[in-house]
Amino acid sequence: MKKLRFACIRCGNCCTDKNTLVTLTYLDILRIKKGLDLDIDEVVDILGFFIFEKSLTNEDKKRMIITPIETEQGLAFVGLLKNSLGGCYFYSSEKKKCLIYNLRPMFCRTFPFSFKVLEEKKGETNNLINIFYTEKGKQYCPGINNEAPLIDTKYWIQLGKNTLNDLKNNHEVIIKWNESVKKGKVIPTVKKFLLTIFELTEK
Ligand code: SF4
Ligand code: SF4
Repeated sequence: MKKLRFACIRCGNCCTDKNTLVTLTYLDILRIKKGLDLDIDEVVDILGFFIFEKSLTNEDKKRMIITPIETEQGLAFVGLLKNSLGGCYFYSSEKKKCLIYNLRPMFCRTFPFSFKVLEEKKGETNNLINIFYTEKGKQYCPGINNEAPLIDTKYWIQLGKNTLNDLKNNHEVIIKWNESVKKGKVIPTVKKFLLTIFELTEK
C-alpha cells in the first residue's frame, strides 16, 4: 500500500467549499438528531435535498458512493444544508470550527480519504481495503503535503471498514425506500422519508 501523508491544519477549506456537498447516510442523520435532540421539523431545517437535474443511467448510479433517494421532485442526494456563503451550515467562520464536531457525518470523518474494497473475503470485517486521497482532497486540502506525517494506517483502515459497512447498510435502506416509492406504496415526502429512517436503529 502506498504511504500517505496527512495532518489536518484546520484551515476550514473542506467545510466552506461551495462545490462540496456533505452527503449524509441515514446513520449520520440519526446521530445528529439524537446528539442535538432535534424533532422532525428541526431535522428538516438542517438538511438539503440536492436534486439531479438530468436523469441518471444505471452506470451513473453504480459509480456513486452514496445511493440517491427518490423524492417528490426526482432523484436526490441528502446532505447538510449550505449557509448563505455556500459553506456547510455547521461551520462557524467566527470560531473557525465545526459546531457539531463529535457528531459530524461520515463524509467529514474520512476526508480527505476514500476507501475501496480490494478483495471480498468471507465476513465483511476481513475484507482487504485500499485507502487513497479523494479528488477534492488533492484539490484543496493543505493537510496533504510532503512535510505532513505519515498517516496511522491501522486507524484509517479501521475507519474505512466502518465507513464501507455504513455505506452498505445505507444502500440497503435507500434501495428499499426507492422500491416502495416506485411501487406507489409511499408518497416520497421529506417527512415520510425521515419518519421511515427514525424507525431504524443502528445496525
Ligand atoms: S481542508 Fe484539509 S487541512 Fe483544511 S480543515 Fe479540511 S481536512 Fe483539515
Ligand atoms: S459537519 Fe462540520 S466537519 Fe462536516 S463540513 Fe460541516 S462544519 Fe465541516
